[in-house]
Amino acid sequence: MAEVLEVAVVGGGPTGLMVACELALAGVRVQVFERRAEPVRESRALTLHPRSLEVLALRGLETRFLERGRPLPTGHFAMLDTRLDFSVLDTRFPYTLFIPQAVTEALLEARARELGVAVRRGHTVEALRQDADGMELEGASEAGAFRVRARFVVGADGARSAVRRLTGIAFPGTDVTRTAVLGDVTLGAPPSQPAIGVTNTRGGVMVVPMAPGIHRIVVNDPLREQVPLREPVTLDELRESVTRIVGTDFGMKDPRWLSRFGNETRLADRYRDGRVLLAGDAAHIHFPAGGQGLNVGLQDAMNLGWKLAAVVKEGAPDTLLDSYSRERRPVGDALIRNTLAQTALIGATQETLALRALMSDLLRAPKLNREFADSISALDVGYAALEVPAPQVDAPLLPEWSGRRLNDLALRKDDGTDVPLYSALHPGRWVLLELGDDSRALPRWEPGWPPNVTHLRARAPAARAELKDVGGMLVRPDGHVGWAWAA
Ligand SMILES: Cc1cc2nc3c(=O)[nH]c(=O)nc-3n(C[C@H](O)[C@H](O)[C@H](O)COP(=O)(O)OP(=O)(O)OC[C@H]3O[C@@H](n4cnc5c(N)ncnc54)[C@H](O)[C@@H]3O)c2cc1C
Repeated sequence: MAEVLEVAVVGGGPTGLMVACELALAGVRVQVFERRAEPVRESRALTLHPRSLEVLALRGLETRFLERGRPLPTGHFAMLDTRLDFSVLDTRFPYTLFIPQAVTEALLEARARELGVAVRRGHTVEALRQDADGMELEGASEAGAFRVRARFVVGADGARSAVRRLTGIAFPGTDVTRTAVLGDVTLGAPPSQPAIGVTNTRGGVMVVPMAPGIHRIVVNDPLREQVPLREPVTLDELRESVTRIVGTDFGMKDPRWLSRFGNETRLADRYRDGRVLLAGDAAHIHFPAGGQGLNVGLQDAMNLGWKLAAVVKEGAPDTLLDSYSRERRPVGDALIRNTLAQTALIGATQETLALRALMSDLLRAPKLNREFADSISALDVGYAALEVPAPQVDAPLLPEWSGRRLNDLALRKDDGTDVPLYSALHPGRWVLLELGDDSRALPRWEPGWPPNVTHLRARAPAARAELKDVGGMLVRPDGHVGWAWAA
């Protein structure tokens, strides 16, 4: 008899672990099936961007990450000379946090285990069947074959997703046409600034801090961009390219990890097929420009987790799950487009260098720089109104607020207690936030859903002029506005 779960998450990378945390927080019976027997040691991603830090703060997890990373108040677009100024962003986290992916995964796995999630390492999912009542998964582990039933399956199993393939979800896009290399190395003579980028007619090099004593060097070398992905990288290759492009090898030695990566670019044609939902790299892959892939995966996970939990546990309408694809696929599409644009700008021809210089000049204009910073940091992501019944309130609804991302507002109760908005969202429930007059009748909504709403009456800071005319809001568990109504 197969074990019966409410949700099986396939893939224990950052996306799968984050979804599992969200589900477990809501009391969903969930397990993670991860092919690798051991945690990853090498670190593909290095960056957590402002919205991801907000996502972690929405569950009270930010300190664990901030303690292990290093903040830099900038981001980048295509390694252009003018960096993106994150310090002006409207967020509690106006910086990029440099933190190796292996650390991010370890912290998320620890959180998942705290919440009681079984992370079943060394378990490879190989077959999926969908029927009227649920899903059946089959796979292999060292202990032999395993079989599990689940009401839903989350495919967070990365770029070569078996879940996507077995479900028949198409993954259209383009194959690798160029490759680049990276090395995590010790530098005997590191650059004087924490993060540098050099691009000239010989190629492009970016050097960023990774961990105490270790830097990541990323090299786009036009002489070697046709080297196939499968060809191993050597320290000599990295050193030769960097020296030719920059004029120094920064005294590189002791490589921890050397890797070649490419610009294969694809987007799943849908994120949901019945009881199967895709998230993270299983749904979108691209050239890793701007350091966004892991970030978007975490944000997919946050969007999906509470919705799936609401459907499984709280009788939310099944259509809520369609809103996951409707909200997140356009974000994946925008990610694909911005990384393609960055890939076009990462080059060393005269034309590309002229375009880079032009773009760098344009980015000196604060307004444009801010727009790019909002986009790469993902703070600009907003959604349309959810297609579930709106609450009834004795005041006009403010539809333009629905779907907006809310900052961690510094709210204050009438008794003088400070309540940052995100702290009210730590349990992962909806928050009914009353900002105005307490004589007003509370809103009413369809019986049953959203359930377990946390009620909070507080004042917004006076500096938040945009909230002056807002009487209250139902805030989604992911910190976006569900509905708002007038004061
Ligand atoms: C060189 C490079 C640099 C990058 N730098 C950044 C960066 O700075 N910032 C950023 O945000 N992103 C970056 N990325 C992208 C980032 O690494 C990915 O977007 C991120 O790992 C995606 O997470 P995921 O959990 O969706 O998928 P993955 O991390 O790929 O995890 C999927 C998991 O599923 C498991 N799995 C696969 N198949 C099965 C199966 N059949 N059964 C069970 N388990 C299975 C795998 O073992 C794996 O652990 C970079 C990528 C590369 C290549």
